[in-house]
Order: sequence, then structure tokens, then C-alpha cells
Amino acid sequence: MMNYFDDLGIQVDDIKSRQFEIFYKLLIEENEKYNLTAITERKDVYIKHFLDSILVEKLDFEFNGKKVIDIGTGAGFPAIPLKIMNPQMRITGLDALNKRIGFIKMVQKELSLKDIELIHGRAEDFGQMTKYREQYDFAVSRAVAELRLLLELVMPFVNVGGYFIAYKSLKTKTELEDATHALNEMKSKLIDIVEFKLPEDFGTRDMMIIQKMGKINNKYPRKPGIPKKSPL
Ligand code: SAM
Repeated sequence: MMNYFDDLGIQVDDIKSRQFEIFYKLLIEENEKYNLTAITERKDVYIKHFLDSILVEKLDFEFNGKKVIDIGTGAGFPAIPLKIMNPQMRITGLDALNKRIGFIKMVQKELSLKDIELIHGRAEDFGQMTKYREQYDFAVSRAVAELRLLLELVMPFVNVGGYFIAYKSLKTKTELEDATHALNEMKSKLIDIVEFKLPEDFGTRDMMIIQKMGKINNKYPRKPGIPKKSPL
């Protein structure tokens, strides 16, 4: 099964393979109770959830030892696969749904993962807290919102000089055009877009790499619901 990782030249040793297996088992066993994912076939989960989550391993970044936050982590994507791949990563997963956070806590326990913080809450609230604002080397987010909205939710967490890697596909160009004002307000700049092809015709994935260049006005993020109602 691990050859899906090999296809993209990502090495997964025995310990990590076992951790992915346990994660898969828990995801399937607990899916009904927690309403975690529509994808349940083994191959689909491995490619669309696990491999997709760790494509960033192909980028030129070192994640071990770094502070990373996953905004809208859901059932733990990409946070848990990234943590499996980078055991020294200090990862925070944040989601507005407590049920899903409960599931990831179970995964954390079963996999004996250290240096992982799981928060039930909204990005709009936590992005205003000193403990979380401008505290992260990297932020990641997958399937949460269109880019201009996402930027307001995510960039307050990132250190000046740090990066946001947005997992995007399909409407990348349009989203980018719509996000000009949001990028300005978030004192951020697009560094690169790296396209990946998933194996077995599972489509493509664009990683948008955005760097925070300066401090953001304290009025951002605005109160819960406002960024969505009137995106920048
Ligand atoms: N990232 C996961 C993945 O790729 O499978 C989950 C994607 S799911 C479609 C979107 C998640 O974002 C949901 O679990 C939702 O609760 C969370 N979310 C949306 N807006 C949020 C916000 N403002 N603050 C925190 N979580 C949010």
C-alpha cells in the first residue's frame, strides 16, 4: 500500500507505515460516530487524505522542530499525516467542531503523539489571542474556505517571515485574483504555486506558498462570521 507514497518519491519507514495503518483503522471504525469523511475505501483514503496531506514534504522546507498550525483540521488533515512524517514537529490543530477534535485526541493517544495541541474553537477568536497570534513558523489549511477568506483566518497566526501553505485545486487562479486585497491587508505575498499530480488519476493539487512580510492590523481577524459574510 505504501507504494502510493513511493510514486511521489516520499519515503515512509516501518514505524510511520504502522502509524498510518492505525490512523486508517480509527478513521473507518469511528467514521459513523464522528461523521469524519465521505472517503472510506482504503486506496482512496491513502491517496486523497494521507498522500495529499504530505505532498508538502516535496517542498523545500524543514518542518521538524518547527511550530505549525492547521486551521480547520477536521478529522486531522493535513495535521496528523504531517506529524507522522515529522515527529519533531510542534503541531496545533484547530477546528470549530468539537466532535472532530475529540476524534483527533483519540488518534493522538493511540499513536502516542507528543508535541501536539488540539483546540476546539474558531480561527477568528484564537487569532486574536496573544498565546496564538504570530506564534507559528508555518500554517496549513485544506478544504476550509476560498483564499481571500482563508487569509484573514490564517495569517494572524503566522510569524512575520513565516509561511502559509494553502492546499488548493481547481479554481486556484480565480481565487488568487480575488485575493489581491486580502493579501495586502494580511501583509502577505505569494511566493510560489507548486502543482502536484496525485497517482492513479486522482487529479492535481496546487500548493500555494504565501509568506507573511509584516505585522497585521489588530482589527484582523474580525469577529466570528464577519470574514465569511464580507470577505476582504
Ligand atoms: N482540513 C480537513 C480536511 O481537509 O479533510 C477538514 C475540511 S472540512 C471541509 C472544513 C473544516 O473547517 C470543518 O471541520 C470546519 O469545522 C472547519 N472550519 C471552518 N471554518 C472554521 C473557522 N472559522 N474556525 C475553525 N474551524 C473552521
